[in-house]
Amino acid sequence: MDKARSKRRRGLPALLVALLYLAFLACPLALASLDAQKTPIWREIASGAGALGFAFVLAEFVLSGRFTLVSGRVGIDAIMRLHQFAGRAALVLIAFHPLLYVSPRLSRDPADALSTLGSMFASGSLRSGAVAWALTMALVAMAIWRDQLHMKYETWRLSHGLGAALIAGLSLHHALGIGSHTSAPALALYWQVSFTLAILTLVHIYIVRPLRRMRRPYRVASVEITAERTWLLLVEPCDGDAVSFEPISFEAGQFVWLNIGHSPFSLIEHPFSISSAPQARHLQFLIKESGDFTSRIGSVKPGAQVWIDGPYGQFTLPDDIGGHKLQPLVFIVGGVGVAPVLSILRDLEKWSPKRAVSLIYGNRLSSQIVALDELRAMEARLGLSLNLVLGEPPENWNGLTGDLSERILSPLLTPLADGARYMICGPPPMIDSVELTLKRLGIGRRAIFTERFRY
Ligand SMILES: Cc1cc2nc3c(=O)[nH]c(=O)nc-3n(C[C@H](O)[C@H](O)[C@H](O)COP(=O)(O)OP(=O)(O)OC[C@H]3O[C@@H](n4cnc5c(N)ncnc54)[C@H](O)[C@@H]3O)c2cc1C
Repeated sequence: MDKARSKRRRGLPALLVALLYLAFLACPLALASLDAQKTPIWREIASGAGALGFAFVLAEFVLSGRFTLVSGRVGIDAIMRLHQFAGRAALVLIAFHPLLYVSPRLSRDPADALSTLGSMFASGSLRSGAVAWALTMALVAMAIWRDQLHMKYETWRLSHGLGAALIAGLSLHHALGIGSHTSAPALALYWQVSFTLAILTLVHIYIVRPLRRMRRPYRVASVEITAERTWLLLVEPCDGDAVSFEPISFEAGQFVWLNIGHSPFSLIEHPFSISSAPQARHLQFLIKESGDFTSRIGSVKPGAQVWIDGPYGQFTLPDDIGGHKLQPLVFIVGGVGVAPVLSILRDLEKWSPKRAVSLIYGNRLSSQIVALDELRAMEARLGLSLNLVLGEPPENWNGLTGDLSERILSPLLTPLADGARYMICGPPPMIDSVELTLKRLGIGRRAIFTERFRY
């Protein structure tokens, strides 16, 4: 079992990913410093900021590309957070890049400095750089304030990808045409190779990967309502009319991107945790109605074509199965956040029934609780300690009442189980507040694992 687990976790170690990333960012600065041609220090700083900002932009293509090599062991959640942080870093560096050129004059003669800045933006030779500058500001702002824009996710994603490619192309033109140290052949080569890799990344994501996906078609086996506004979707591999029983191999707790009823090249796909155990006949998903796509899930017909990208995610069991000391597990979930935990519990029933496992499962209403009978059966079969929490309980409710706050969690979690792994899943605000509570109770960061239902 341990062998099978480690085989599935492909990808570079986190330290190597970090080192490669830093080396890639440092490369243009190092190559520029080797150039014999020197300019005044503030010009070096200004061009350095632009170069570093451009390197950040180029690396974003790889970070956001869902590459197992990059995120397989680091975790896609961590990589997506790095992607978001790097976008902001690029924004600051690129925003300051032209300002730094005029900075010495800003204190002496601000009007002159601003007029020089204006002419820089108006200059024909700097046009590609100026457009890339404006586009970067717009693109990052659109990503930060995505929710406030009320834009369809798919429209935003398309504009984000195309915008980034345009910025990269214009920045390349700017760097090679007018950038400082462009005469250094090694630096020019770095920009050309990195840009080509960024574009190849897009080709891989939007052409090669869908083509590969076409070799593994799936279809909807059934969709039925299972709790209030929550649907149970079963998906099976299919090859024409025949069912070939080789669904993707995944670890309990992982998720996939599902594309239902669209071309494999479509951008319309959504991330969902798999709630069935690995090796189950069907892939099972719990889908809560929340927006455009999820609200229409009930109208999907059995037989509809499904394309799957995945599995991804690190919200999985520790590698101690088969070992002597089994780590206690504490799951704290809100609403449909129970989906990956069901997969894990179902897996655990097969592998290690003798582990201390508890589940604190919060919902607003009792009608929203999923798989209650199965969870009750797990109390006996798995020794699961099940605590149901309802925000608005019915009159005869004998479970806990409230939200997953410190008042509820503290008595359930203390005294702290020795060496326990705390796994939290649900909407980001709930995760943030539970994480804070756990830290206040003295639980270390390394013991806490989260799956945020949002990127
Ligand atoms: C790792 C992960 C696992 C998830 N597992 C589950 C699950 O098991 N069950 C469940 O009900 N929900 C799950 N979700 C949430 C689910 O993906 C969203 O509710 C769904 O995509 C919303 O789509 P919509 O069109 O209905 O709503 P919209 O209103 O269009 O989208 C709401 C928000 O969902 C996110 N979203 C939408 N489309 C995508 C996309 N293609 N890629 C990434 N984010 C997107 C965006 O943040 C968007 O702002 C998960 C999310 C993540 C990130």
